[in-house]
Amino acid sequence: MTAKIIEGLPVAERLRAEVTAEVARLRAEHGLQPGLAVVLVGEDPASQAYVKSKGEQSLAAGMHSVTHRLPADTKQDELLRLIADLNADPLIHGILVQLPLPKHLDEKPVIDAIDPDKDVDGLHVVNAGRLVAGLPALTACTPVGCMVLLRDTLGDLTGKHAVVVGRSRLVGKPIGQLLLAANCTVTMAHSKTVDLPAVCRSADILVAAVGQPRMIRGDWIKPGACVIDVGINRVPFDNPEQAALGKTKLVGDVNYKEAVQVAGSITPVPKGVGPMTVACLLQNTVTAAKRIAGIDS
Ligand code: NDP
Repeated sequence: MTAKIIEGLPVAERLRAEVTAEVARLRAEHGLQPGLAVVLVGEDPASQAYVKSKGEQSLAAGMHSVTHRLPADTKQDELLRLIADLNADPLIHGILVQLPLPKHLDEKPVIDAIDPDKDVDGLHVVNAGRLVAGLPALTACTPVGCMVLLRDTLGDLTGKHAVVVGRSRLVGKPIGQLLLAANCTVTMAHSKTVDLPAVCRSADILVAAVGQPRMIRGDWIKPGACVIDVGINRVPFDNPEQAALGKTKLVGDVNYKEAVQVAGSITPVPKGVGPMTVACLLQNTVTAAKRIAGIDS
C-alpha cells in the first residue's frame, strides 16, 4: 500500500482564509490592520519570487503590506537604518528580511536589530529563547507549517518518536522544540550522526531538513511512519535529453519514489511544506499585531 499524500496547498488555503477572516475582524472591531514589511536586498531570482508572493498574499489577506527593494550594493548601516525605521513604524507589526543577504552584509546584526515583537521570521535570539523556555514566541514559519501538517495528519502527537534530520537555526532546531512541546520524544540528527539510516528507521515522525536531494532512502523509513520533507533542491531532469537542455525541477531531501512505498503518510515536493510557509508568515503577522496592540482574543 502506498502512503497518504499530505497536500500542503489546501491546508495553506484554509489557513489563509482563517487569517483573512481574522484581519477583517481586527479591522472592524479594533480598527487594527496588521502590517507586514518585507525587505529584499539585491536581485536573487528565487528571493525575488518569494518576496513577490509574500507581498501579494499579505495584501490579499487584507493586510497593510510594504516591500522595500534595496540595491545589491546597499551598505550595512543603510539596512540597519531601515530596520530602525520599521521598528518605530506603528503601521508595521511584522518585519521580514529576506535571506540570504548579499555576501558583503553581515546577517547576524541585521536580525539582532529587528524588534523581537515584530520578528515574524522567528530568527531573533529572544524568540529562539522564548521558544525553548516555553514562553509565547514568534516562531519560524516553516517549522510552524510542518506542525500544522503533522497535527492535521496524525492528530495528537503525544509519545511519538520524532527524528529531525538537520539542526539549522531556521528549520531543524525550532521544529525539534515544537515537537518536544507537543510531547514527542525527539532525536535531533545532523551531519555527524552515526548510522543515520538506523536513527531514521526508529522514527514514527521523520522530518528531513537537510538540503541534500533525495538523501533519505526508502529503507531508512519505518513502515507506516509520517514523513515531512522540508527540503527544496533544484536538480536536472531525470530524462537525459531534457537535462541536456538545461531543464531542472524541484525535489526534496527524501527519495519520494521509494519513501511513498513504505511511509504511512508523506509530504510531496513541491506542494507539501512549501505552501505552508507564507500562510504561517501571515498568521505570525496577525499574532504580532494582536500582541503589540494588547488584544487577547
Ligand atoms: P542548512 O544548510 O542551514 O542546514 C542543513 C542541516 O542539515 C545542517 O544541520 C546539517 O548538519 C544537516 N546535514 C547536511 N548534510 C547532512 C548529511 N549528509 N547527513 C545528515 N545531516 C546533514 O539548511 P536549512 O535548514 O536552511 O534548510 C534545509 C532544507 O530545507 C533546504 O533544502 C532548504 O532549501 C529547505 N527549506 C525549505 C523551506 C520551505 O519553505 N519548505 C524553508 C527553509 C528551508 P550540520 O549542522 O552538522 O552541518
